[in-house]
Amino acid sequence: MNKYWENTSLEDMTEKQWEGICDGCAKCCLHKFIDDESAEEAKSTDQIQAGEKIHYTNIACQLLNTKTCACTQYSERTRLVPECVKLTKSNLQDIFFMPQSCSYRRLYEGRGLPSWHPLLNKNKKSAMHKAGMSVRGKTVSDKDVDLEQFEDYIALWPVEDLD
Ligand code: SF4
Ligand code: SF4
Repeated sequence: MNKYWENTSLEDMTEKQWEGICDGCAKCCLHKFIDDESAEEAKSTDQIQAGEKIHYTNIACQLLNTKTCACTQYSERTRLVPECVKLTKSNLQDIFFMPQSCSYRRLYEGRGLPSWHPLLNKNKKSAMHKAGMSVRGKTVSDKDVDLEQFEDYIALWPVEDLD
């Protein structure tokens, strides 16, 4: 197997190599909120400032197939869901929005790919699901909850990582 990610930086990867790094965990399809101590209440956002903290919830985007952990509208996603952030080489500086286990973030921080990554498991997601590193079986849909009540859905499992 060509472990290209060990000797090619994210910036230098081809489009195909870049796409292959995504483990398909779908944690980036969870709603997250910024806790700003100076603000009166936490709010949904796509920007973060120094001193602010990101809270993940178990509320998933309604376009997510929560069994396969794949987007049901992948090609249309940024039009249908404006807050859907697609990580690219040009917005790598926003990588801290991604959960610690995000494979792009792991490579960006020099931590390598985890043993459960599909690239190390015959391109299958089963090891990832088994290790509990995807969102499968852990979410509610954002069409079924009141996002104003997000504090009731704050979850710690999205920020867990496992080598
Ligand atoms: S969190 Fe990272 S690795 Fe997981 S699905 Fe999102 S972009 Fe891919
Ligand atoms: S539109 Fe698709 S990729 Fe974007 S957050 Fe929703 S399910 Fe995830």
